[in-house]
Amino acid sequence: MSVISPARALPAEIHLHQLPEHIHTQFDQLMDRADQHAERHELSASALLHTQAAQLIGIRLPDSGELTRCTCQGCYCTCAFDAAQARTYLDGTIEFVQCPGCADDHPRTEDD
Ligand SMILES: [Zn+2]
Ligand SMILES: [Zn+2]
Repeated sequence: MSVISPARALPAEIHLHQLPEHIHTQFDQLMDRADQHAERHELSASALLHTQAAQLIGIRLPDSGELTRCTCQGCYCTCAFDAAQARTYLDGTIEFVQCPGCADDHPRTEDD
């Protein structure tokens, strides 16, 4: 926990439910478009959308350049965070993402 908070320091993650609904919606749209570009291997277009998404919700772009959303089934976490920190697990054939907080607090594994 840092107590140093220069005016321009942005958080590394945010919980989307703290944001106004329309920002949350715009963020989801940007991330969905970024995913579509990534699937087509249009990586610069995808990277640009991740940058826009980070600016929209007021967090800094992680070193990995990619954000992801926590889709943990164990709680109602709506964390947006660095994709490099994501833990994924499968439920059936569907892949879900846990943020570091969820992975520490109530980890899901494919062995469960
Ligand atoms: Zn989470
Ligand atoms: Zn969770």
